[in-house]
Amino acid sequence: MTIGVLGGGQLGRMIALAGYGLGQRFMFLDPSTESTAGHVGSLCVGTYDNEERLSFLARKSDVVTYEFENVPVASARFLNELVRVYPPPRALEVSQDRVVEKEFFAGLGIPTPTFAAVSTLAELKAAVSHIGLPAVLKTRRFGYDGKGQWILHTTEDVARAWEALGAVPLIVEAFVSFEREMSILCVRSKAGETRFWSLVENAHRGGILRCSLPKSNAWTPELQEHAEAYATRVLAELDYVGVLAIELFVVGDRILVNEMAPRVHNSGHWTIEGAETSQFENHVRAILGLPLGSTRMVGHAGMLNVIGRMPSRDAVLAIEGAHLHAYGKDAAPGRKIGHVTVRAETREELARKLETLVSIVDVD
Ligand code: AMP
Repeated sequence: MTIGVLGGGQLGRMIALAGYGLGQRFMFLDPSTESTAGHVGSLCVGTYDNEERLSFLARKSDVVTYEFENVPVASARFLNELVRVYPPPRALEVSQDRVVEKEFFAGLGIPTPTFAAVSTLAELKAAVSHIGLPAVLKTRRFGYDGKGQWILHTTEDVARAWEALGAVPLIVEAFVSFEREMSILCVRSKAGETRFWSLVENAHRGGILRCSLPKSNAWTPELQEHAEAYATRVLAELDYVGVLAIELFVVGDRILVNEMAPRVHNSGHWTIEGAETSQFENHVRAILGLPLGSTRMVGHAGMLNVIGRMPSRDAVLAIEGAHLHAYGKDAAPGRKIGHVTVRAETREELARKLETLVSIVDVD
């Protein structure tokens, strides 16, 4: 079978690396001739709205998936007429607009930060007077890694942020003083079977994920159950097939849902070595209609992203239990070019190894 993938970044690359073990072939559609997934599969170069390229991909593929959530919904629907597309295009549609997404969660009884859609400065001022300060102003669409975002502390910030962002539709949200950011990763099969990996605690800096720790000290069975209950509603409502990530703010014992990504996710990279079945393999299993694998953790694990500069491979690999994943991308400031997962038998051993790793992988 050939799996078509929209997008040729590292997520597509890691889907292929997992899928090869199941005997699959891969073809990636990406506008760049340099995309990293092209190192491990066939590359079809073209833009995501090019119907000729989409038709070609559909002809070559038995099933199509995507590795980033800004795929044009119209393209996913066009493809879906020709070949099965998983996750369902509606998941893309919901996740691409922060207002639609938050209304979707609210409709399922899933709490989110208080929010309002704003399209004029007057609307923004009215929303801020209702929501209060601080608040977060974001573009409704095409934001990622904290881009297209302003934190509003004062009324002066309101006008300034409007000037910077106001040309496009916006959402304003209450600023949540969360204790932790976590994510729940889950997978649903065509038959409706669902599996969940352990809740992951995530640390961001400059809007970019730096570190993910599954089953961290903050983990409790109640939080896990709570997050799974919310995720279950989302999966069922979308008749979802594949891996889904939901990002959460944890405030005390409460969970507020920030957003979802209808794809494999950076906060699930630890599952390659840290879980019985990785997010990538289970994604492939799900879209092929195969039985899902166990999501059980294997020992303890932590993941650090490699951003901007590749550390010494020798130094990383000298740490027992460390696994380097270099994406074959050129280094550039702020660019994710790899990650390292480190495994240990105990939490204390993991903490020690992570400390050493942090000093080698410059997480700034
Ligand atoms: P997003 O693009 O929505 O994932 O936001 C990027 C990051 O900004 C999140 O991971 C949070 O650290 C922070 N953030 C986003 N929305 C809020 C909010 N309403 N309150 C506090 N922090 C936020």
